[in-house]
Amino acid sequence: MSHSRHHYAQRRRFLIQGSALGAITALHSLGSWAAAQDTQPGKLPGKGGKPRSAPALFIGHGSPMNAISENAFTRSLNALGQKLPPPKALLVVSAHWLSPGVTAVNVAEHPPTIHDFGGFPAELQAMEYPAPGSPHFAREAIRAVKGVKVVPTSEWGLDHGTWTVLHHLYPEAKIPVFQLSIDYARGPDFHYQLGRELAALRQQGVMIIGSGNIVHNLRATQRGLPEAMRASQDWAQRFDEAFAGALAQRDDKRILDYTRLDAGANMAVPTPDHYFPMLYALGAAGRDEPAETLFSGFHSGTLSMRCFGFGV
Ligand code: ZN
Repeated sequence: MSHSRHHYAQRRRFLIQGSALGAITALHSLGSWAAAQDTQPGKLPGKGGKPRSAPALFIGHGSPMNAISENAFTRSLNALGQKLPPPKALLVVSAHWLSPGVTAVNVAEHPPTIHDFGGFPAELQAMEYPAPGSPHFAREAIRAVKGVKVVPTSEWGLDHGTWTVLHHLYPEAKIPVFQLSIDYARGPDFHYQLGRELAALRQQGVMIIGSGNIVHNLRATQRGLPEAMRASQDWAQRFDEAFAGALAQRDDKRILDYTRLDAGANMAVPTPDHYFPMLYALGAAGRDEPAETLFSGFHSGTLSMRCFGFGV
């Protein structure tokens, strides 16, 4: 099965409708949550004992095959995980949890590994990422967001946008992880504002990770092409460069207005599912906090693997 077929298959299977989540919500109450097993909130130790916020990252995840591959991208994730002080928890916004009409957060103590794809090797299907969840910090996320009601659910786990990345970033799977869904009925400003509200969690030692891809057009990928610094198609290269330029200037307005970022935007971002996760990382960054490029390059010709971070 092609990557694009897997993509549509998983979209069909895992879209959660707002109405269904409404029913789920009724089953949860704050009081029924298990006692927080997380360590007390507090800032991470920084250089010279000075407290520092946990970073906000955007990771381009590409094909699920990266989970069982070793390449420049996966090595960069591994090196990053070793370099950063371990956060207290990881809040991941993945392109693969879309919930039109609602923003949900996973409060499960033990989120299952979701194999939301088909046609990949048995080795990939069998992979598990057994990190604990973080009901405590999920509740903190609900508290931090004032602009919209974030709905608790345990009807989700860790999808491949999350675990294929974390497998390389934190291979030991000891750091608690919880996901926040993307209300796919909303536009870029909404996701950016939500990221701004979630920035408070960084001060509590929670690393915020958006997982998607800046250029993501599965109909235009060329399977079998090796990873490369430059895209095989001009429109992919140009959009990725335009994005990087806007990010370097922290011209967030241009980034939000992505359909006009470059003439090839309709090819680079035909649907915004893989672009929106980035807005959570960008929103969670301070206004003047510079972005540090963590990785750039292309997989399968046109899939931008660009990764960057704030406070790294
Ligand atoms: Zn994806």
